[in-house]
Amino acid sequence: MVSRVIPVDPFDLVIFGGTGDLARRKILPGLFRRYCAGQMPPEARIIGAARAEMDDDGYREMVGEAIGEFGGTSDIDAGKLTSFLENLSYVAIDAKGENGWRELADQMRRKVVRAFYFSVGPSLFGDLAERLNNHGLTDEHSRIVVEKPFGRDLETARQLNRDLAAFFDEGQIYRIDHYLGKETVQNLMAVRFGNMLFEPLWNSQFVDHIQITVAETVGVGGRGEYYDKSGAMRDMVQNHLMQLLCLIAMEPPARFDPDAVRDEKLKVIRALEDVEPHHIVRGQYDADPDDPEDLPDYRTAVENPKSKTESFIAMKTHIANWRWAGTPFYLRTGKRLVARSSEISIVFKDTPHSIFGEEAGRHRNVLSIRLQPNEGIKLGVTIKEPGPGGMRLMDVPLDMTFADALGPEGAENVDAYERLIMDVIRGNQTLFMRGDEVEAAWAWTDPIIEGWTKRGDVPKPYDSHSAGPDASAQLMRRDDREWREVTP
Ligand code: NAD
Repeated sequence: MVSRVIPVDPFDLVIFGGTGDLARRKILPGLFRRYCAGQMPPEARIIGAARAEMDDDGYREMVGEAIGEFGGTSDIDAGKLTSFLENLSYVAIDAKGENGWRELADQMRRKVVRAFYFSVGPSLFGDLAERLNNHGLTDEHSRIVVEKPFGRDLETARQLNRDLAAFFDEGQIYRIDHYLGKETVQNLMAVRFGNMLFEPLWNSQFVDHIQITVAETVGVGGRGEYYDKSGAMRDMVQNHLMQLLCLIAMEPPARFDPDAVRDEKLKVIRALEDVEPHHIVRGQYDADPDDPEDLPDYRTAVENPKSKTESFIAMKTHIANWRWAGTPFYLRTGKRLVARSSEISIVFKDTPHSIFGEEAGRHRNVLSIRLQPNEGIKLGVTIKEPGPGGMRLMDVPLDMTFADALGPEGAENVDAYERLIMDVIRGNQTLFMRGDEVEAAWAWTDPIIEGWTKRGDVPKPYDSHSAGPDASAQLMRRDDREWREVTP
């Protein structure tokens, strides 16, 4: 299977925060991979812009090291790396002052796509937008890319939208949710809207429920202070899980174009029902006494012994529209869980009547879409248990693990960031969040958080390397359902 690589137009990409963790781990190694694949043209230029004083050579050295460490392969083509690094330069800049802006303006070329990646905290978004404008660095074709978190509630998200809208049209603003850049997420749309098979069944008449799980094995790591002010609801549910839910639940857009897709997603968010307090389970991880690394429990890790912030959340929600009325959507995400796994499962209803009798066993079709690891799609199909033992039923998976189905090229791991950056250069916003979507997501999230804050709810402790607090399993059991196992 040969995948087609279509080079993008020449560009100048300025990475504000070009010395930061995200730039070194994701953005720059991703750009290098696109360069090696022939997608980033040799005339493209990348300008790192950050606070540290450094010259071009110092920056190239730093980026070379980052690519060695985070490039995902020990087999780096030294010649390609050298020529890639030649396209890089660096400007020491102050987002809140005037330092460096003239130098940046001098480096930028006319007649190429200009993109500005705001890989800095959101408190700098407004300053950057204003200075870009004041220094005449942008025109109507320029684009800006902004990172999460996009606000911490509706009011702050609105303010960020206003700050950016003062200088940029919505069509120039690319709000990243890297989950949307994953191959399987786009495949989800291909499976739904490119096949006749699933869409007629994709509704409350045939679907019993939907589960979305994003499980991480890591704890809060070095982000404790930030995380404790955020928690799983803000950090994961409001953005990543919400985006997945939208793609599962939305109506077929008329076209696969940015506004048609985003209009449909917005309708889903606006149709989400309020969540009842007893349909929410929040948790905080305990330390694992057998952990060879002796990693601390949540409250120790965030240095806040009284913290009420959740490192785990499970919830049941509903979408109030004709397609989904009565079908529960169960969402679950957490840190320090038993395995790293992101999966969406569409659990279909039982057959209305079993012609084989109850002793043959009852089985449900489950379509599971796995985002990480081992991206792929599996459909559980019921067949006869082989052998002469009479008519007994069993499940077998129709498995489309991309690595198996498409061969080594299909499994080529194009990281979400590199795909999304190429979309920015191409000017395609389909996989980016629109301002009204983000605001609608916060409008749903805010009362949920306000509710547990007012009630003084305390998260339930859970064992590290488990599937979360017991109450999460009970949330399902009360409905006669169960979570899919969290497996690597
Ligand atoms: P970081 O602290 O490692 O880097 C911050 C960068 O911003 C540095 O290059 C610094 O020089 C620059 N900077 C800070 N103040 C500045 C100023 N006044 N003027 C100019 N430059 C300034 O942060 P990070 O982890 O790279 O994260 C960057 C953004 O991306 C944050 O909003 C973060 O929430 C978001 N994000 C990060 C990750 C990740 O994996 N690191 C993942 C998702 C989102």
